[in-house]
Amino acid sequence: MTLGCPYGTHRVLEPKGALPQGAQRLDNTMELYDNEILIDVETLNIDSASFTQIRQQAGDDEGRMAQIMLQIVESRGKHHNPVTGSGGMLIGTVSALGSALQARDLKVGDRLASLVSLTLTPLVIKEIKKIHKDTAQVDIEGQAILFESGIYAVLPPDLPQRVALAALDVAGAPAQTAKLVKPGDRVLIIGAGGKSGALCLHEAKKRAGVTGQVVAVDYGEEAVRRIAQLGLADVILNVDATKPLECLEALTHACGGLADLTINCVNVPHTEMASILCTRDGGTVYFFSMATSFTAAALGAEGVGKDVNMLIGNGYTKHHAQIALEVLRENPQLFQLFSQIYV
Ligand code: NAP
Repeated sequence: MTLGCPYGTHRVLEPKGALPQGAQRLDNTMELYDNEILIDVETLNIDSASFTQIRQQAGDDEGRMAQIMLQIVESRGKHHNPVTGSGGMLIGTVSALGSALQARDLKVGDRLASLVSLTLTPLVIKEIKKIHKDTAQVDIEGQAILFESGIYAVLPPDLPQRVALAALDVAGAPAQTAKLVKPGDRVLIIGAGGKSGALCLHEAKKRAGVTGQVVAVDYGEEAVRRIAQLGLADVILNVDATKPLECLEALTHACGGLADLTINCVNVPHTEMASILCTRDGGTVYFFSMATSFTAAALGAEGVGKDVNMLIGNGYTKHHAQIALEVLRENPQLFQLFSQIYV
């Protein structure tokens, strides 16, 4: 029996000794070790910060975007965007299951979504079939490998596949929100009109209760319309999160105070200081956004004398997949919104 490392270090080509996520390059040959799962991939859900960066680099040209994606996978053996450092996740069908994993409740032909990042998933793209620019989903012909430690969710039969994929990509956000929000909190969600933001709105409203206040920030009429349609935000602010003082002014003007908890779900850089300034001393900022700069947040908070707890947006927390999918089942408006976008 040929067993690889449960964490996948046997596939790290460089630098030796690294874990797959931090590695520069992975071995993406599709010969299976006995503790790996081979997946025929149908769709990649590219991380929003990564997809936005690729669109910009390609001048929004689909052919050029495809070239960039192929080149990333060619050079790294995984879809690990070298600029944003982020990946995404995939859906596909189990094509083979290593002999050491036969006891798992999984069989060839099962359809699943990976719940680990594409930044650590060995991937081969044979063909890019369609790029869905409005949803960051990319249909491909290709294969990928999940390591023994790699988590996944078998796709639920009651939800459309693309809707489930979109929610699972950002599953950590609503699940962390459920853990962080306390009754009576004022919760500020920045980028609330996006997919993670909208799922967080539901959990924030549920957990903050009638004595709490949910404040949604997004930029642009379209995003504000999406948020209003959900009926979850007590206050909606149409303001650019890259402008910290404008955000602070809008929040204090509308609410008369700062947030107990701020959740950053934006897909563009330079929004750290809006999140920090809008949070009260002793409050918490949860940076789910992959466009967050650790340096900008840490030095920026110090620079304005802000004593806030700052959480890195771990994409995983216990039961995150169940929580994210359950939000869609609990909230028909959210389900409808996701269904309209992810057709
Ligand atoms: P999304 O659906 O694209 O939502 C992003 C939202 O931010 C959109 O509503 C967008 O508005 C808004 N926005 C953009 N620029 C803004 C600005 N200047 N001011 C205020 N709002 C602005 O993204 P998502 O899929 O929810 O992902 C959100 C973030 O989470 C991304 O950074 C992504 O990389 C990250 N992420 C993290 C993890 C993790 O494990 N921590 C996992 C997945 C994703 P428009 O639509 O009008 O542009």
